[in-house]
Amino acid sequence: MRFHDELLIGGRPRRAASGRTIEVRSPATEDIVGSVPEAGTDDIDAAVRVARGALERGPWPRTDPGERGELLGRVGKLLAGRTDELAATISEEVGSPRRWARGGQVGTALGVLAVHRRLGASYPFVETRAALTGGEVRIRRHPVGVVAAIAPWNAPLFTAVLKVAPALLAGCPVILKPSPEAPLSAFALAETAAEAGLPDGVLTVLPGGAQVGDHLVGHPGVDKIGFTGSTVVGTRIAQRCGQDLRRCTLELGGKSAAVLLDDVVLTDEIVDALVDGAMANSGQVCIAQTRILVPRARQAEVVEALAAAVGALRVGDPQADDTDLGPLISAAAREQVEAAIIEARSGGARVVTGGGRPDLAVGHYLEPTLLTDVDPDSPIAREEVFGPVAVVLPHDGDDDAVRMANDSPYGLAGSVWTSDTVRGEEVASRIVAGSVAINSSAAMDLGSPFGGRRRSGLGRECGPEGVDAYVEPQSIVVPPAA
Ligand code: NAD
Repeated sequence: MRFHDELLIGGRPRRAASGRTIEVRSPATEDIVGSVPEAGTDDIDAAVRVARGALERGPWPRTDPGERGELLGRVGKLLAGRTDELAATISEEVGSPRRWARGGQVGTALGVLAVHRRLGASYPFVETRAALTGGEVRIRRHPVGVVAAIAPWNAPLFTAVLKVAPALLAGCPVILKPSPEAPLSAFALAETAAEAGLPDGVLTVLPGGAQVGDHLVGHPGVDKIGFTGSTVVGTRIAQRCGQDLRRCTLELGGKSAAVLLDDVVLTDEIVDALVDGAMANSGQVCIAQTRILVPRARQAEVVEALAAAVGALRVGDPQADDTDLGPLISAAAREQVEAAIIEARSGGARVVTGGGRPDLAVGHYLEPTLLTDVDPDSPIAREEVFGPVAVVLPHDGDDDAVRMANDSPYGLAGSVWTSDTVRGEEVASRIVAGSVAINSSAAMDLGSPFGGRRRSGLGRECGPEGVDAYVEPQSIVVPPAA
């Protein structure tokens, strides 16, 4: 599944007109672990033509939604049978520990497909309301059109499925553009969809970088962009879509807070969950809760417990069973994270644990790092680092904690930790973020809306709201029966 000679245009193998190849390197060994063709402009234009044909001539947009949901269920079953292979592949291209990749990368994608199988039966594709003037209004939710799904490298299969599943359920043809760093699982997804019976023309895979994404975003034959990635690129996409009023859903970066209230009992499980929430996938997770806000009076206790747990994380070969953290995605990513740590230190931050490179000969590894004495206005406290770096900041009670959590340009996720879940829910409701968990860092439920406020994005994925993003509602006003 790792070496591909051909693109999949509308599900059919086809040599890339560009003639170029993307080599996929393991960030752990720096060896080539796969390759895919790189799409060029001609390939994109051909894919859009095929997708428009599938939209206009069918049968997919006119297939019964229940059947479309069942097909997604079959895709999930087929992919589940390939879990080990997929986890190994994503582990190689991204560097996620294989153990984590099974759940965090593959399990989440399977969960999304299972949710969409059920939505095939329950989503209101056709709904009848009483018209205010008598008679009825039939609301028909039509496919939004040809979708370009643009995915990042950090969770390549999961973020792809978060767009592909609702778009297919809505009846849309999809052109999936995986990132050049981690394009391999997109091929497994498209192959599996064809095996499950998806008609020709409906799902295309076009690997490539910014140029391919940019061409797709500006393409007149594309109706909707589903994007997950950085706030910088998301902002550019929003600007381009704005020119043509093209629809877009943007899942962007974050700097989420874990808020500890003064009644939290610091068990080993809670400490491990806090560390996991900040450091999983080496901090390369959009909902990473890397600002840990703790009651001032309990700061020493919390820092000591976190430092012990962070220091005990095993950094190394992602393929090994006992590895907790793998490498960062690239040499450049590691240098950026290191520069952020240096800048924080020069601003007075104290490294409690980590801060350097572990003693490993190859791979873009970095020690998990915990910082205290951080200026809340400094970049390390405000900007997404996308590496294994967490900061501890003291607060002076619930109101102050909420103020600090909200003192951010972002608004993606968060968590509240307390022995009183009613109080926790009250605090959570005041946090400006798309999703917040109580006593857990898993601030995402696959059946419920997920997405960012402020600079963390626009629109929602997951649940029926995620399908809303791929339909255009039409109201047909039906006269009262004569
Ligand atoms: P990125 O923005 O660099 O790239 C994301 C995708 O966009 C890639 O496929 C890339 O090739 C493509 N791209 C780059 N420039 C483009 C352009 N001008 N036009 C169109 N497409 C373009 O992000 P990344 O480094 O791959 O991913 C990390 C970022 O993704 C982090 O900021 C992270 O927080 C974010 N993320 C967000 C979520 C979420 O759900 N909110 C989930 C995962 C990752």
